[in-house]
Amino acid sequence: MCGRSRFTIFSDPNFASYCHCDDCRISTGAAVSAFVGFPTADLVWQGEPLTGYKSSKTVTRSFCPECGTSVSYEDEKLAGQIYLYVGVMDDPDRFPMQEHTYISEKLKWLHINDDLPRTDGTGAPREE
Ligand SMILES: [Zn+2]
Ligand SMILES: [Zn+2]
Repeated sequence: MCGRSRFTIFSDPNFASYCHCDDCRISTGAAVSAFVGFPTADLVWQGEPLTGYKSSKTVTRSFCPECGTSVSYEDEKLAGQIYLYVGVMDDPDRFPMQEHTYISEKLKWLHINDDLPRTDGTGAPREE
């Protein structure tokens, strides 16, 4: 939001998903989160570094220490991948969501009328 940090991505996303989990909800304050995933190596940061917060044993959520914008999510179980909130992209319309994850934690009053697959748990393949 403040422009302190920016990034450029040099590939197409390999993941685009809504996340209905409790952790994303409390972290962002939003009823549902939407992520796009890329290989970390295809992303170049400019400007000042973000601040990371470890929200669980393996997950680090990064945000801007100046304006508080939630920017990304990384999971050690998903090494080499970074998940960016679609709202921080310059043109979020370019990244349509492909599925709903953690559907069992979805808010009861939230109704998204699409035909996308719904899974409980993560849609991304991860090592346990
Ligand atoms: Zn989540
Ligand atoms: Zn900022």
